[in-house]
Amino acid sequence: MKKDYCLICNKYVDSIILEKENEYKDDIMDIKYISKIAICPHCGEELFNDQVVKYNQDKIVETYKLEYEIITKEEILEILKKYNIGKRPLSQLLGLGEITITRYLDGYVPTLKNSKILKSILYSPSDYYSILQMNKNNIKEVAFNKSEKATKEILDIESKDSTIEDAAKYIVNNAEITNLALQKILYYVQMFYIAIYKTHAFNSRCNAWEYGPVFGSVYYKYKKFGKNIIIDETPQNELNEDLKNTIDNVLKYFGCYTGLVLKSFTHQEDPWINAIKSENKIIEKSSLKEYGEKIIKKYNICKINEINKYSEYMFKQYINN
Ligand SMILES: [Zn+2]
Repeated sequence: MKKDYCLICNKYVDSIILEKENEYKDDIMDIKYISKIAICPHCGEELFNDQVVKYNQDKIVETYKLEYEIITKEEILEILKKYNIGKRPLSQLLGLGEITITRYLDGYVPTLKNSKILKSILYSPSDYYSILQMNKNNIKEVAFNKSEKATKEILDIESKDSTIEDAAKYIVNNAEITNLALQKILYYVQMFYIAIYKTHAFNSRCNAWEYGPVFGSVYYKYKKFGKNIIIDETPQNELNEDLKNTIDNVLKYFGCYTGLVLKSFTHQEDPWINAIKSENKIIEKSSLKEYGEKIIKKYNICKINEINKYSEYMFKQYINN
């Protein structure tokens, strides 16, 4: 074993390696970690040992990554794949140096700020889509087109589904509702409709986002309202009676809760839980059917106006947690 030099004893010695609680602080981080120190076995003086120094540096980086939830290499690769974008174009889109993403993949630790941006686009296709549109001139047209296509597929923006548009108009005209809550109401309408009437209410795709289930086409249409109540005075086509009835009951029994409460309901349910873990983050209609049928059986729901048995149960769960 390599020996360390002790200045006090004036000779090379076999260090004793000990662990010590330590703190590292700079402009960005303040972390506590277990460091190692090399000690002289004769006089107890702390010695310079390059392996110990290297160990402590790695430990700081590792602790920083964990504590600040810094985006991992795997997560960055997921972004590239999900939105069909290259390392360079992604760097350019985000206004970073051209090779920033390449360096992160090579092991450089992302700054906290860049990590946050990357995480937000990983989990929110809508955030990524906004950045893509806003900074489209930063990247080559071919790269833009490829990525736009992939993102639109995730968000299902192009599919024109007039039923869901009319259903959304009906909802916003019959309730004071935010976009967050609207998405959850549409999700429950789809779920109970499929479970009870054995066919889907809307053809549109439902995605699992961090804030719960989202129908991309409707979400985008009303995005400008942010957290405010949606107002839509454009004409609405008549809905079929079963759908209208389903919406009325979902509004009555779920619409009484805020978007955030509804979000926490959906986070307890298999369709969202399974989809958020999946690669494409789609809540399949089959998954809604399976879960919806399980619910109506478990809560003995025979008619749509009995779904309060489920919503009241979910609210009790919410309060108790
Ligand atoms: Zn010594």
